[in-house]
Amino acid sequence: MTDQKSALVVSAHSADFVWRCGGAIALHQKQGYDVTVVCLSYGERGESAKLWKQDGMTLERVKTERRIEAETAAAALNVHDIQFFDLGDYPLELTRDDKYKLVDVIRAVQPDFMLSHSKIDSYNTDHAYATQVALECRMIAQAWGHNPGQKVLGAPQLYLFEPHQTEQMAWKPDTFLDITPVWDQKRAAIECMRGQEHLWQYYTRVAQQRANHFKRNSGGQSGGRDCKYAEGFQSVFPRTIDTL
Ligand SMILES: [Zn+2]
Repeated sequence: MTDQKSALVVSAHSADFVWRCGGAIALHQKQGYDVTVVCLSYGERGESAKLWKQDGMTLERVKTERRIEAETAAAALNVHDIQFFDLGDYPLELTRDDKYKLVDVIRAVQPDFMLSHSKIDSYNTDHAYATQVALECRMIAQAWGHNPGQKVLGAPQLYLFEPHQTEQMAWKPDTFLDITPVWDQKRAAIECMRGQEHLWQYYTRVAQQRANHFKRNSGGQSGGRDCKYAEGFQSVFPRTIDTL
């Protein structure tokens, strides 16, 4: 089990992981990683407008529909494990015990890398809060004094995936991942999000734009690698390397 590569996604709402890192998930699953997704909430109040416009809608029905959508999308991406914490949204808030529950997941998964939202999101404070929680729980998982005897966490990179209204979030990518081989899976997962159909084409265009950045930074017209779809990430921590 110790050789098993793994990754952990901390998603504020149940659809965020699809738009923002669905390609990374499918690609790493294909490469043999076990990718776990934690959805802190269903986004039932703040990101389900289309469902709420239906007559007689209730909070429980919205949550059920959102869960089905997320599970179907996760299956399209071949997600290893998806967990729903159901902590409520708008606003998303975690108690100390909720944080310890996430720490338990982090320690169980022992991720080689983690993914979460941008550090700033003035349009959607749940997103930035989820990243703060991810950092906090990563820190607790590294502490020898927290549940002594458990295996402590190493130092996985935290990649911040691309937010909506990118330029307003002080988000600047330093990593581009070629997701062309799994684009069909990401698009299939995107189309599971029936409540947010207005975003399908938008996130297809984002992937095409980032593919251009991938090409330019892999050599451009001097023999750069072709790439049709990519995802951008901003890394929080420095890398330790032996060769530049
Ligand atoms: Zn969200």
